[in-house]
Amino acid sequence: MRHVAVSSGLQESEIRPSTLMSEFKRLSIEESKTYFLDPGEVEEIDCPACGSHLNSKVFEKYGFSYLLCADCKSIYVSPRPTDEALAHYYSESKASRYRVDHLARNTAQARHRHQIAANANWMGRIVDESTQSTSKSYTDIGTTLPQLFEEMASFDLFDALTTFEPVSPLDSVYSDLKVNVAESRPSEQTAVSSFEKLEHQFSPYDYLVSVKDMLSDEGIFFFTTRTVSGFDLQVLGGNAPYIFVPEHLNLMSIDGIEKLLDRAGLEILELSTPGQLDLQFVHHTVEQDPNIRIPAWISYLLTHRDAEAHEDFQAFLQKHRLSSHLRVAAKKKS
Ligand SMILES: [Zn+2]
Repeated sequence: MRHVAVSSGLQESEIRPSTLMSEFKRLSIEESKTYFLDPGEVEEIDCPACGSHLNSKVFEKYGFSYLLCADCKSIYVSPRPTDEALAHYYSESKASRYRVDHLARNTAQARHRHQIAANANWMGRIVDESTQSTSKSYTDIGTTLPQLFEEMASFDLFDALTTFEPVSPLDSVYSDLKVNVAESRPSEQTAVSSFEKLEHQFSPYDYLVSVKDMLSDEGIFFFTTRTVSGFDLQVLGGNAPYIFVPEHLNLMSIDGIEKLLDRAGLEILELSTPGQLDLQFVHHTVEQDPNIRIPAWISYLLTHRDAEAHEDFQAFLQKHRLSSHLRVAAKKKS
């Protein structure tokens, strides 16, 4: 299994313009209180990563309890909104509308430059190295930024490009690039991707099994998610300002995700944490709220060491899979 470190000078503000994020977060928190209020709309669960029922409550955010799995150390919301309640929320809520209208579009350029290109290159390289079939197909699930397909088309690697359940459904990019907008779940795909979706699934296990059914025998599933094994989440815990329901129901550990993939019948080709922002997230968070306590050593590192030390520290986090931005490539077990 490979793991990779990258650096491209990414700034937090380039990915998450703070006023837009604040409004999205405000809407999400406000609506989570109305959409997931009735006892029938929430359900208690065991650890979504490893299935253990042993847990302890670690923090509460906006009325929801986050539990720590005693076994794999994943953190997860329980009781959590049911699948039906989540589907209703995503189709009707103002927060979902806001994501499409503002959050995705306004950050598209910065994301295009850094994340989309990096993700596309990552997928293209692994598909090229690891698959034999002469005719290759690619599907992205829940496409937020259609520009991803511009990158994927530029490789001349795939004969068919498909978006399934796109968040941005009407973008002209799809028609210009002849991207299929699938009505039902495609099958026999050489590559399937899903970016930042696993963290808000009611059941990550069911999600992975349904994705596995989309793959050809040599097909590869690519995904990114947030992991609680990462530095910023370990340091900030419940004080991490960008963690809220229903966006973040599952903050699985690296160990938990390895167990989950195995249970779902997937074999890991690459599992890495190429995140570049952990230290910046911690720094900004404590600057904005000085009441948040962090370990003295980390405070000292932030205030008494220069940019070079901070870059080296972030590189260390990447190298040892200790950043909270996780990416995984996996194939069906043979
Ligand atoms: Zn667990």
